[in-house]
Amino acid sequence: MSEHEIPLSRPDLSALEEELLILTLRSGRLSIGPMQEEFERLVAQEAGCSHGVAVSSGTAGLHLALLALGIGPGDEVITTPFSFIASANVIRYVGAKPVFVDICPKSLNADPAAIEAAVTEHTKAILAVETFGNPQHMDEYARLAAKLEIPLIEDCCEALGTTYRGRPCGSFGRVGVFGFYPNKQITTGEGGMIVTDDERLADACRSLRNQGRPIATAPGGPGGAMNTGAWLEHERVGYNYRLSELNAAIGVAQMRRFKTIIERRRMVADLYMQRLMGVPEVVLPTVDPEAKMSWFVYVVRLSTEFATEERDRVINGMRIHEIGCAPYFPCIHLQPAYRDLGHRPGQFPIAESVSGRTIALPFHGRMTEREIDLVAQTLELMISRESLHRG
Ligand SMILES: *Cc1c(COP(=O)(O)O)cnc(C)c1O
Repeated sequence: MSEHEIPLSRPDLSALEEELLILTLRSGRLSIGPMQEEFERLVAQEAGCSHGVAVSSGTAGLHLALLALGIGPGDEVITTPFSFIASANVIRYVGAKPVFVDICPKSLNADPAAIEAAVTEHTKAILAVETFGNPQHMDEYARLAAKLEIPLIEDCCEALGTTYRGRPCGSFGRVGVFGFYPNKQITTGEGGMIVTDDERLADACRSLRNQGRPIATAPGGPGGAMNTGAWLEHERVGYNYRLSELNAAIGVAQMRRFKTIIERRRMVADLYMQRLMGVPEVVLPTVDPEAKMSWFVYVVRLSTEFATEERDRVINGMRIHEIGCAPYFPCIHLQPAYRDLGHRPGQFPIAESVSGRTIALPFHGRMTEREIDLVAQTLELMISRESLHRG
């Protein structure tokens, strides 16, 4: 990485993260302790839910949510093909079938009408994603799931701190899952959080993340559960999906600084919008007036006259100028890993058309106006080159 590079994303870290991390390290308690508990409380509160269950990643959290809901072989789960691949992979982990539906061209989230049309007697859940953090349709999905008497699983990995019609993301589903990889709104290095109002579901997830142990057991000090029978009692086949105290300490610091972190992201998104609004070849992200976004990424797309190869050349040109860009996201149903499910190009035309024209621009809360300007200028330059090519 050169000093001129503008990275695609960067975590927003401060002295507080360092302080809590060192404090935790010196405490000698490195797993299942006060930091996990505090982090769970802070994230659940932000999501408007009564329970938080910290896990080792967003993917692990989604896996446990599906298991705790009893979804398994023979079941179908309706979801979007336009997302990070983890949202569909977890359906396959439990042996169920992901049933993809096309997206709405404005929100880029699964089209509610298409979801309704895809329901069969095997449909056991809707797994909805706030793609790029956009919460539109979440209330519609919740209503539809209630009508069908199936759970809505909210993959809110891209939407911590976003609200829709005044309601926080994470609270729309029976269960919601956040992820804390370094490119998300907040990070713990690696980590995730299951949120829910359903105490039994939360307890099932707590047991499953901890090798299927009864939930009351904690390792403790001398005489603690680790030294008694309970630590070696396993009610079910569980996993080690725990989040370490070190990761949780970073998360606690990030949550204490949450308002600042989100405000900065909103300012950068506003600056991009002002700067790119007048560029006719660029379609900006649509924000529903009822949404207050916390901004996961800033993804624009080229207008429909641009082909995917042209988009790819624009991205390469940006990268040559040391500006981090990415084609978020290739459609999941066309990934090599999904070949066995027999999908074909053309099956979800809106998702495929959008996916071939998107460009994720560098985005994080510490970007300067100068950097934003440089990104915008370079983007315009690369686009005009493509237009010249075409003649
Ligand atoms: C980031 C993300 C995940 C997975 O989170 P990890 O913590 O990386 O496992 C799942 N779904 C979506 C939509 C994501 O953006």
